[in-house]
Amino acid sequence: MNTIKHCEWCGSGTSNFIYRFIFEPEYTLFLKSRMINIHDRQRQCVYLEDGREFEYTFLQPNDTAIYITEALPHIFCSERCVDNYLEKHSIFTGNSIHEKTAIHSLKQDGYFVPGIVEPRKVSHREDECTQCAKSFPNISKLFRAFLIKSIEEVRGNLNDGPSHGADIIQSDISQENPYGTFYHLYFNQPMTPLDKKVTFCSNECSFDFSVKNNCMVMFKDNVMKGVSAIISPVTKKINEGLSNRYVFSPQIFR
Ligand SMILES: [Zn+2]
Ligand SMILES: [Zn+2]
Repeated sequence: MNTIKHCEWCGSGTSNFIYRFIFEPEYTLFLKSRMINIHDRQRQCVYLEDGREFEYTFLQPNDTAIYITEALPHIFCSERCVDNYLEKHSIFTGNSIHEKTAIHSLKQDGYFVPGIVEPRKVSHREDECTQCAKSFPNISKLFRAFLIKSIEEVRGNLNDGPSHGADIIQSDISQENPYGTFYHLYFNQPMTPLDKKVTFCSNECSFDFSVKNNCMVMFKDNVMKGVSAIISPVTKKINEGLSNRYVFSPQIFR
């Protein structure tokens, strides 16, 4: 029997969850552009008429090719949620863009426009989860765990200024939930990750590990637009306080 995991997009729990790699293209090449002189499919690169050369990671159906440097595994409950996620982040770039340029980077323009690929369609490795020992598909997701010295809970509200002294402050206070709790996390300084190498199949397992070992787990998260994210023993309480449907949602590291 499969474990139940929750969809990182809608929060529904299911044992039929699916993994998808989410990537953010470094740049997109428009293969129909007249500025491309040669398209070398074997070496996966193009040569522009101005002499520049660009490699790509894979071809896409719409006569484009993209170059990526990383892809992170995420859990969805269904194809519908995958589509909803993509739709939420898509932007219209126009059909004639290839007439003006051969290469474009939305990332450099400051947009987060992710793509998704099924694990079976790209080469990847299987990592073993430190917490549950199950294997999961991975390409480049890295985790670091930091031992927490102490966590202090302070009641507060939206008008309270940031308090000082704690290494990291998290809270469940928002416009919708103006009265809540500030969680002050303290660490040994300088903050150094555990020597033990950790890797997790899901946010659930990162959370279970953080509770069991009194740690904060840090990683990059593409459902959260590529930010550094953290999961700590107070993650579930924070999401419940914020009335988030997905109670294992990581917090943004700041
Ligand atoms: Zn879902
Ligand atoms: Zn696991």
